[in-house]
Amino acid sequence: MKALQLTALRTVALVDVPEPAPPPPGHALVRTLRIGVCGSDLHAYNGRQMFVEFPRILGHELAVEVLSLNGEADFAPGEVVCVNPFLSCGDCPTCRAGRTNCCTRLRTLGVHIDGGMCERFTVPIAKLHHAQGLTWEQLATVEPLCIGHHAVRRGAPQPGERALVIGAGPIGLAVLAGLQGTGVRVTVAERSPTRRRFLTQTLGYTSVVESAEGQLAELVIDATGSPAAMSAAPNYVVHGGRLVYVGHQPGDFSLHNPLMHAREITVLFSRNANELDFGWVISRLQQKIVDPTPWFAPLTAPAEVAASFPVWLDPEQGIVKPVIDFTRL
Ligand SMILES: [Zn+2]
Ligand SMILES: [Zn+2]
Repeated sequence: MKALQLTALRTVALVDVPEPAPPPPGHALVRTLRIGVCGSDLHAYNGRQMFVEFPRILGHELAVEVLSLNGEADFAPGEVVCVNPFLSCGDCPTCRAGRTNCCTRLRTLGVHIDGGMCERFTVPIAKLHHAQGLTWEQLATVEPLCIGHHAVRRGAPQPGERALVIGAGPIGLAVLAGLQGTGVRVTVAERSPTRRRFLTQTLGYTSVVESAEGQLAELVIDATGSPAAMSAAPNYVVHGGRLVYVGHQPGDFSLHNPLMHAREITVLFSRNANELDFGWVISRLQQKIVDPTPWFAPLTAPAEVAASFPVWLDPEQGIVKPVIDFTRL
């Protein structure tokens, strides 16, 4: 079968790989229909994803069709579902506490292990979610939306508060979607003029600034992954406020102790998402509280992906969410 493999730095190839083994107990064999390209796939391509080794089949933003099931399941062959790609162990203390998103033995599809940019693969049945009437493209955006919703849940926004989102890349946009309907007043700080235009003209945000300088909010969510921006973020948190870091980067960053202390800032980190986030996002998509339609670029065929990566990586091209149509092989 065909798979899109990251074979080396900045090299993606459509290759032939062996068919997956029959699903072990508790697993399903699934067929990839649509797959979103994540910021982390772009980082992996550039060698900036710390957990990815070559060769790796990328892809974790998935709309798939169930082909067969090995074990009791509330799903049927032929059903289209979305996949929670965060494969948690289920029995470490963190999993037992319900924090499966940061399981000590976490394996993420397309990151630690091969992912969904292939025709067929197996996945635990427990990680499938019913489509609930969503389109294939919407199903492929559930996972990235979950990253933003999890960060928002960590920050626990209260109606009437101000929220400042720093960085409106893929994660920042998912955070903005997560803040929708929470009753906070949102300001977005984003450096790219193309992305600022998208925020104001397409998404209708009215408070969009180039720099966070001078802003103050009860809840600040950093989605930059830039050490300089992450160090500066506490400046924008009110006394007694909360700061959530959802962006990450491979090195250290510093926090100015006197300021953190004086303002008694609550600092939270946000990693991945868990089943609660998947349920919440699917229901918000169903209710149209969140609508990712403006994110979608025209669908890409697998054969076009290798040539498309440099385009997707150029922020001024204005591509928000590339989606690969894996049925067009
Ligand atoms: Zn993703
Ligand atoms: Zn675990």
